[in-house]
Order: sequence, then structure tokens, then C-alpha cells
Amino acid sequence: METRWMYHTSATFGELRTASRGTCLIPMGCVEKHGLHMALGTDIMIAERVAYMASQLETVAVFPDYIFGDVAERQSEHTEGTLTLPIETHFLLLEQLCDQIYRNGFRKILIYNCHGGNQAWLEAFIRNLDNKEKNYVVAKAFVEEQAPHVMARRILAEGSGAIPELTAEDEALLLRYHKEGMTLGHACFGEGSFIMGIAPETMRLDLLGRESGLSTGESAPYREVGIALKSNGWNLDFPNAFCGHDPYGMNERIGAAALRMEAERLAKALRVFKEDEKLLAMLDK
Ligand SMILES: [Zn+2]
Repeated sequence: METRWMYHTSATFGELRTASRGTCLIPMGCVEKHGLHMALGTDIMIAERVAYMASQLETVAVFPDYIFGDVAERQSEHTEGTLTLPIETHFLLLEQLCDQIYRNGFRKILIYNCHGGNQAWLEAFIRNLDNKEKNYVVAKAFVEEQAPHVMARRILAEGSGAIPELTAEDEALLLRYHKEGMTLGHACFGEGSFIMGIAPETMRLDLLGRESGLSTGESAPYREVGIALKSNGWNLDFPNAFCGHDPYGMNERIGAAALRMEAERLAKALRVFKEDEKLLAMLDK
């Protein structure tokens, strides 16, 4: 059925609420630099597509995209095109949106977040809502990059052909990167593969090689003595907003497989969340 909140009319919305058993999914991302080679909207593009695909496997209402995130633009020399909102704005806006979701008859809200910089404030946000004794439950799920490591592990476990979208050449590439211990993190092979399945026209691999995606190691001295910098020093280590080995060799087949596998993983989480009775019972105590 149509699972997107925005695609329903007031007359059909109740059917969506019933079929989703009062469970709503918020796709969340941000608008920020992804190296020089990937689109500013990468995170929200991934969130939107995977959330929709997962909702087709396990029916939940998909809320309009939460596009804006917290981006550490102060730490970055490269802020061209980046958008960031203050954390207090997120706290207020997201709480008010969750209240609206509840007002529309949903008591379970899962945030599918595809931007690492949102994780810290989201954790505090969820705790804060709980302290406010809302009559609904909010939880979060974070994106998991499927290519190359998760996919390679599946091929190793189940054999060639385990991921039907792939050719023998694709399998060989994924296995090679896996064996070499390819670094992932941001604007990397993992994120890039998703985007190859969504908006390959935004990929600018011709711009690779100008800025490195490997760690400067600058946060290590702090970590060694037990000091936790913001985001574990990510902005010191990866000043180019790029973390990972250069993602050569991605294609649309790998992209389609990565999206399908991530959607299946999220659908599994949705099923557990949707069927759960304990979390709401705790509220009603
Ligand atoms: Zn990203």
C-alpha cells in the first residue's frame, strides 16, 4: 500500500495508521559536504529511499523527510553548500513534530538516521522526551553500510550468487576490498554504493584524488589519555569531510543490492518495533 504520509488524503490516512499499527518512521539526514565527489544531500537521499523501501516490506507510515541535521561546519574548512541548524532548534522542532505524529494517532516513532553527526543529540533528545513523560515512544536506528564488507561476508558465507544483483566481477571487487580491509565512514564506498542505486548522476568520481579520505590521526593523542572530543575527534581526523579509501568501482548493480539489503535490515527492525507491546505498556504503567 502507499506508505508515504504525504501521498495520502485525509480520507485514506486512517487506513495507513491502522495498517502501520500506529508506527511512524522518520527518515533523517543532513545537508553537508561529502568529499568533493558526492552530493550534499547524500544522507537524506539514502534515508528517504531506504525508509520507503523498508516500509514496502513492513508497513509503517513514512513521515516527510527530516532534511536538516547538525553539521560541524565550524570545524570544517569546506562549508560550501552545507546547511546546519542549532541543536536547540532540532530539539524544539523534532519534539513538536513527534507531538504532531502522536496527535495523528501514532504512538511509536522510529527515527531512521543516516547522518553520524545527529547521533549524539538524538540520544539526548530521546532521553529528554522520556523524562517529559510523553505518551508515545521514540527510538532510533542508524544506517549500516552494506558495501563492501556486509555484502562480502554474505558471499563468503553463502557462496557466489548469494546476492542476485551482482555479476562475478562485482563479487570479486567486493571480496578484494573486504580482504584489503577497506576503510569506510563518509562519502566512502558504502555511502557511494547506496547513491549509485539512487542518483548515480550526482557522483563525481572524476574529482577523487584531490582530497584524502584517510585519517590525519590528529585525535589520537587525546584519545590515548582518555579525552573524548566531540564526535571522537572526527573533524580533526577527517578535515575533508571524507572518510574512506577512494571508492572506485561502484556501479548501479552494487547500488541496487546495497539498498535492498539495507531496506531488509530496516524492515526487520520495523517489524520488531511494530509488534512490540512492552514499550507502550511501560508508558501506561
Ligand atoms: Zn553521509
